[in-house]
Amino acid sequence: MKLVFDADLRRYNSFAVAARAACLAEIGDVRELERAVSLAESRNMPLLPLGEGSNVLFVGDFPGMALLMRNRGIEFDQDRCEVRVAAGENWHELVRACLAKGLHGIENLALIPGSAGAAPVQNIGAYGVELERFFLELECFDCASGTLRTWSRAQCGFAYRASALQQVRQQPRIVCSMRLRLEREAAPVLHYPALAEEFDGSTEVTPQQLFDAVCRIRRSKLPDPALLGNAGSFFKNPVLSLAAFDELRQRFASPPGFPVEGGVKLPAGWLLDQCGFRGHVHGGAAVHDRHAVVLVNKNRASGRELLDLARKMQARTLAEFGIALEPEVRIIGAEQP
Ligand SMILES: Cc1cc2nc3c(=O)[nH]c(=O)nc-3n(C[C@H](O)[C@H](O)[C@H](O)COP(=O)(O)OP(=O)(O)OC[C@H]3O[C@@H](n4cnc5c(N)ncnc54)[C@H](O)[C@@H]3O)c2cc1C
Repeated sequence: MKLVFDADLRRYNSFAVAARAACLAEIGDVRELERAVSLAESRNMPLLPLGEGSNVLFVGDFPGMALLMRNRGIEFDQDRCEVRVAAGENWHELVRACLAKGLHGIENLALIPGSAGAAPVQNIGAYGVELERFFLELECFDCASGTLRTWSRAQCGFAYRASALQQVRQQPRIVCSMRLRLEREAAPVLHYPALAEEFDGSTEVTPQQLFDAVCRIRRSKLPDPALLGNAGSFFKNPVLSLAAFDELRQRFASPPGFPVEGGVKLPAGWLLDQCGFRGHVHGGAAVHDRHAVVLVNKNRASGRELLDLARKMQARTLAEFGIALEPEVRIIGAEQP
């Protein structure tokens, strides 16, 4: 296990904001995790599991131990169409490996940054598919009891960009590995507008073509965190009741919306665009000039500047539309706004 005290976290978060952790432990297997957790306990340090830092915003330093999950391994069971992946594997590389093995379903989730272990934490989703659909179970280390547990899909309590693993706890649960069941017969999900457009409405699409298209679309649309610090969509898309959506339709000719259980899901980016946030600058932080839902570190922004900008956007959306935007990004070191 590699331990660094007073560690610089800048290269461990995709916003690339400056922050420090009292201790950073690089974890290669469950034994190392056990040792790190008991060391933290003996020093009364809070714990923070960290994958590749592409969905966190550090607002100030972390006074405890960041557990950098770097355990490796991908095992296939071809007969059962199953794959078991260690938390420290890169998610996109897993998608690529499954495709190469002829196991399908997660091509729509290609190129989502981050680790496999973080994928169930917020039930990652893109282009009409969510992880939950292929999830079987995961193994997590419960820091409170010091034991390794298996969690079923029901225990994970998946919802839109949410799961029971997100509960903020002094002694968190650390995902160590996960099992997915994929499909041998590909059934590409193509209803998402960008994909329907890409394939011109055709359904004769191979998994490789779908994977390539998703990568192409993402590369053309989203800023690369290696070049411009960001964490993808900062806010979740809000779900409005039918009555609230109808009210919106009286103000705007055709607001975009997708029917979901309990109402209509509205793109947060559209709402923020109506408020004129695209390209808005706040100190070193800014709203991306092509995506009003993506906050960027334009010029050495601090975590505080990015958080203040997010709060400003929430306040404006609430005042203009009566809609409370909820962050998708996990805020570390301040209240989740
Ligand atoms: C350019 C860009 C585009 C993105 N697009 C999408 C998208 O299309 N869809 C989508 O869903 N997300 C998207 N995201 C968000 C991000 O990719 C996902 O949330 C991803 O799963 C984060 O993985 P990570 O390893 O970087 O997690 P981290 O940022 O390191 O951690 C995220 C949260 O999970 C917790 N965590 C991390 N690892 C573990 C573990 N092993 N056990 C328990 N808890 C853990 C952390 O404590 C934290 O609360 C995007 C991000 C970027 C930068």
